Amino acid sequence: SGKFFVGGNWKCNGSKESVSKLVSDLNAATLESDVDVVVAPPFVYIEQVKNSLTDRIEVSAQNVWIGKGGAFTGEISAEQLLDIGCKWVILGHSERRHIIGEDDQFIGKKAAYALSQNLKVIACIGELLEEREAGKTFDVCFKQMKAFADSITNWQDVVIAYEPVWAIGTGKVATPQQAQEVHAAVRDWLKTNISPDVASATRIIYGGSVNGGNCAELAKQEDIDGFLVGGASLKGPEFATIINSVT
Ligand code: 13P
Repeated sequence: SGKFFVGGNWKCNGSKESVSKLVSDLNAATLESDVDVVVAPPFVYIEQVKNSLTDRIEVSAQNVWIGKGGAFTGEISAEQLLDIGCKWVILGHSERRHIIGEDDQFIGKKAAYALSQNLKVIACIGELLEEREAGKTFDVCFKQMKAFADSITNWQDVVIAYEPVWAIGTGKVATPQQAQEVHAAVRDWLKTNISPDVASATRIIYGGSVNGGNCAELAKQEDIDGFLVGGASLKGPEFATIINSVT
């Protein structure tokens, strides 16, 4: 449902030189028109990307401060991101939850403030391997959804990314059936807890070891509305293949 959406999360990778090469590859690529495309460079390269990348592709940050700027050493505010033309932010990514230690409440504050400033949000959810094995996948995803939902009023500015933690950076992609099952459950959760309209209009994208070879089968699933791509988004031609897997 909704327009197919493909995000490239570059994480903490790259240099001025490699960013310049990736941008020229993306500028040269032929992309299906019916897809929203967003890339998320590290903060320090956002302006370089904004200034050199085709307007066809929007730019996202990978993090943002919880509120208005001020005496918060090391942080970047939503206003500052918008000031340099960055329209999106990724929030709740598993690397920030599990490596940096961000919790639902902190992530919720970030989402509320970002959306209040009209910064759009890619809201990430997903279970750990041990949680999946314990049969807790839906519980975990619904709890994370609830924390986001408590902070969201304008759902049109939100894309949900389901990223099972065990599939991120491991080469162990979820099967199309495993992903579809969770996407359908999340859509059903939206229907019950928010509204049928929000459930059908909100994009639910999949992330975790998506590549040029496995994207087509995943894209065919009814409730998979796009992808959030890590490693494979650092290679221009492969990222283009993933964008063009829209069905
Ligand atoms: P990989 O595609 O490298 O597994 O990373 C997925 C991800 O975390 C995107 O946000």
